[in-house]
Amino acid sequence: MNFHVLTLFPEMIMQGLDISIIGKAIGKGIISLEAVNIRDYTLNKHKKVDDYPYGGGAGMLMQAQPVYDAWKAVNQKIKDQGRDEKNIRVVYVTPQGKTFCQSMAKEFAKEKDIILLCGHYEGIDERVLEEIVTDYISIGDYVLTGGELPAMVMIDAIARMVPGVLSNETSGETESFSNYLLEYPQYSRPEVWMDKKVPEVLLSGDHKKVEEWRLERSLEKTKILRNDLYEKWVEDNQEYFIKKAKREERRLKKERKKGKLI
Ligand code: SAM
Repeated sequence: MNFHVLTLFPEMIMQGLDISIIGKAIGKGIISLEAVNIRDYTLNKHKKVDDYPYGGGAGMLMQAQPVYDAWKAVNQKIKDQGRDEKNIRVVYVTPQGKTFCQSMAKEFAKEKDIILLCGHYEGIDERVLEEIVTDYISIGDYVLTGGELPAMVMIDAIARMVPGVLSNETSGETESFSNYLLEYPQYSRPEVWMDKKVPEVLLSGDHKKVEEWRLERSLEKTKILRNDLYEKWVEDNQEYFIKKAKREERRLKKERKKGKLI
């Protein structure tokens, strides 16, 4: 998958992402990342890319021409590399967009190329947005100085969903939000730390029990921390509770038989 970022601060994107798992994936050629400096495309002889907004108001606005020409150059490059440049999604990262989430990351990860457009100052001239943008995405209800951090957040989350980026293909599947649930708690060495012991079941070697325990802890955690997600999971997984109730009924029956319960 190829990420193309249109930005006034390309070094921020390249330095921020060329490390750790994402950096390795770039090194292996599983994903590619290019940051295109919008300023390189301005026709202004002083390299200006912004101007005052019509009608007044605070701050400056990024002008349409350099953004449009930078976008055109990326499209041309994609075409020259033999890929379809016509249906490429162009994401404008903006606080006015839909809030980014894990399912969007999964969906974007299916694309071959994606262009992310970063605004700065007070934003970008509306006319060029109308012309090139396909998706308006926010990373949350707050306003940042520029779109570089949101673009990096999106690239990191999307890249992790591209096959081969995570060393263990299944780890993306069990992480938080993969099925509405937050991930279960995890423990590593040592077995005892500050008098806190790793839960016994995780040392048992019984994979079925470990899976059951993890699901139960995920449910508990999600119910406490994100009840909105918990309720969605419950809605989709009624069967789980029916089966659990039946299992409990069988267990109680057995115990009654043994004379443990009255
Ligand atoms: N005047 C704009 C408004 O009120 O919607 C905010 C502009 S903001 C200072 C500058 C740029 O930062 C935006 O064009 C956008 O690219 C980026 N940005 C800021 N907050 C963001 C967020 N929560 N999600 C995504 N992008 C954001």
